[in-house]
Amino acid sequence: MIVHGVSRLLPGCELESILDSLPLAVFLKSRDLGYTWCNRRFEEICGCLRTDLPERLAFEGLKGPEADKARESDLAVLNSGEHRIYDARISCPCGMSIDARFLKIPAINRAGDIVGIIGVAIDLTGDREAERKLLHNLDYMAEENARLERIASDLQTSLAFSEDNAAQLAELAEQIDSQKQSIAEQNEQIRRLMYRDDNTGLHNRRYFFDTAPLMLSQPADPARPGLLAIADIDFFKSINDRFGHAAGDAALRSFAQVAADALPETALFCRVGGEEFAILTAPMSIPEAEALLNRLRETIGAHHLHLGPESNLNFTISIGATPLCAGGNLDELLHAADNALYMAKRGGRDRVVVGA
Ligand code: GH3
Ligand code: MG
Ligand code: MG
Repeated sequence: MIVHGVSRLLPGCELESILDSLPLAVFLKSRDLGYTWCNRRFEEICGCLRTDLPERLAFEGLKGPEADKARESDLAVLNSGEHRIYDARISCPCGMSIDARFLKIPAINRAGDIVGIIGVAIDLTGDREAERKLLHNLDYMAEENARLERIASDLQTSLAFSEDNAAQLAELAEQIDSQKQSIAEQNEQIRRLMYRDDNTGLHNRRYFFDTAPLMLSQPADPARPGLLAIADIDFFKSINDRFGHAAGDAALRSFAQVAADALPETALFCRVGGEEFAILTAPMSIPEAEALLNRLRETIGAHHLHLGPESNLNFTISIGATPLCAGGNLDELLHAADNALYMAKRGGRDRVVVGA
């Protein structure tokens, strides 16, 4: 049937059995394109025995354009003696499809004539499957890339949104800052209105009653208790009466200015009544504090308020004081200072009396 000389090269081996053992499909065709032989693998693929080939198969189990491709390649091999290689999908009778690569070469006899075709088909299904998987993976990766790009773009959008938000927040923070500043200014103004006397600009009675208890709560040195004093302008009513209420106001401002300059900054000095002022000295001995108050009295007495071209106003003050004591009650201290003031008035005014 086929060349039997192979058995001389491989003892006991026939060429047919060698070709049957190949994992490739091998087939032979005559010049009229009818099959003359095929190996086992070809039989498996085409689902027929080699004895049935000429009747059963037209073109390697191919259909339509694939069968045309096979026919053209057969003719090309027979006519030109060229080799032909092409890929085609075989539809097996079992229903399976096999992707195969065909190689066709001319079968040439000893005289050099082309007497037929030797065909080999290699099953590429595994490779095609891998290729399909690869393509699928590529598709999947392309989809993933697109998805990642969408996420990145969403992120960019949301980052831009966050930037917008950040800008809005920064603007809001600025507005809040400026509002805080304006609130602080308003608070300061309220504080001023609450704690300052309009006419003299001194701290007022409310401030005195809010602040003095804190100063009194500090531990005091018995040798340096300091004094709580009430200074009252003498015969103030007569100033109003003689020069008018406005002059009285001016006198109050003048007194406040001169007294504030004369007193140390450590002293608490507030207007607590019409023409009455409270003074809480820093810790110092009673003689020191009394001397301080006397200096103030003298300064005021020596001061002349210029009211007009020929009108100068001069007044005195009386001061009643009481020594501070640790944890002392403010009302009691004020009462004691008032009593001392009364004594100063009774004693002839323009003087300092330190009570018990
Ligand atoms: P004394 O020496 O006993 O203290 O006599 P005084 O006249 O100073 O005392 P008095 O209590 O009799 O009168 C105080 C006056 O102070 C009465 C009131 O009209 C006046 N006075 C109170 N507050 C103000 C003010 O803010 N402005 C002006 N101009 N007068 C005021
Ligand atoms: Mg008075
Ligand atoms: Mg008075």
